[in-house]
Amino acid sequence: MHFFTALFASALLAGLALQLWLLGRQVRAVRAHRDRVPAPFAASVSAEEHARAADYTIAQAKLSSLERAAGAAILAILTLEGGLAAIDAAMAAAGLEGLPRQLAVIAAVILLTVLASLPFDAWRTFRIESRFGFNRTTPRLFAADFVKGLALGSAFLLPLVALFLWLMARAGTRWWLWAWAVWAVFTLLVGWAWPRFLAPLFNRFRELEDGVLRTGVEALARRCGFEPRGVMVMDGSKRSTHGNAYFTGIGRTKRIVFFDTLIEALSPAEVQAVLAHELGHFRLHHVAMRMAGSLAAGLAGFALLAWLGRQGWFQPALGVPDGGPHMLLLLFVLTAPVFLLPVGPLAAWLSRRHEFAADRFAALHADARSLASALVRLYRDNATTLTPDPVYAAFHASHPPALARIARLLPARAE
Ligand SMILES: [Zn+2]
Repeated sequence: MHFFTALFASALLAGLALQLWLLGRQVRAVRAHRDRVPAPFAASVSAEEHARAADYTIAQAKLSSLERAAGAAILAILTLEGGLAAIDAAMAAAGLEGLPRQLAVIAAVILLTVLASLPFDAWRTFRIESRFGFNRTTPRLFAADFVKGLALGSAFLLPLVALFLWLMARAGTRWWLWAWAVWAVFTLLVGWAWPRFLAPLFNRFRELEDGVLRTGVEALARRCGFEPRGVMVMDGSKRSTHGNAYFTGIGRTKRIVFFDTLIEALSPAEVQAVLAHELGHFRLHHVAMRMAGSLAAGLAGFALLAWLGRQGWFQPALGVPDGGPHMLLLLFVLTAPVFLLPVGPLAAWLSRRHEFAADRFAALHADARSLASALVRLYRDNATTLTPDPVYAAFHASHPPALARIARLLPARAE
């Protein structure tokens, strides 16, 4: 067995074991605290609501465990068991040659992985979300979303991949720099186009209705240097009763989006406080920083990809004895997450720092108590656990636990 085969197989197994251990810890921690609401939330969250959040979190974690195990099995079959090589051979046997064959193989593998995640998505939506009263997605909407997502993904990804394959064949030893430049332009273009042209394919966006809420929101946005027309309401209620708000876009497509479900649940002061938090992400350049980070990581990724392409052992060690540039791309994209596992907690930690910073910004520009009460309502209505396992949360949580955020917003009250 090649050294790299052994390294990949052990990293895959160790990664899966770690993920299952973390999910197990999360289930045990949430179950242990199921019957007692943490003291700081005793007045705002009922015992039933707290128990329901625990059951919901546990159901999600169990499904995630299954999904992780299935994902690792599929990856092992595609690589070590020769699945990719078999798909490649099948396309060759069908008479495909050159670029069309390379694209057909990549499209088949993408389709396969998308189909493999479909039962899990359906179970999540129609069993778990429905059981806890969150789901509003009909089977028809679910199917429409799936088809639209697949069509949109193919329309963008396949030309991009074709361009990569062409550069690999024609652009000489520095092909990876060109490929990175193409990828960087593509990333920026999608980041710019998403809020304005692509998200509306899935949801309806409207401006806030005239009234007290809009007046307050416009004034606050202006004070923070944000174009008030960029504050939009999305029909999130079309798919679920979960509420949320987010900041997205580049340049003139910058947007702060409120789910209609959130606007309905919060008081005007709470909406302003949540808006101030999102404006914090805008003013502190969090989106730009994340994008710069991913462009830099992409450059390192393409350099590594080019280096691996020159190593004769890379593809055979991963179950492809007689591959080509398309196999190099596929193997790299499929196996990189296995080796990048330690980057996950780092990204989550950075994201939590940004959340604390946006909370601080909100406390300066709106009412800290309103943000704290909005957070409690969000955690409660979304059945987000108030008692996550600390190790699991450190590894995975993109947002700090409710208690930590409220303790920073209202230092005097959190004792
Ligand atoms: Zn945030």
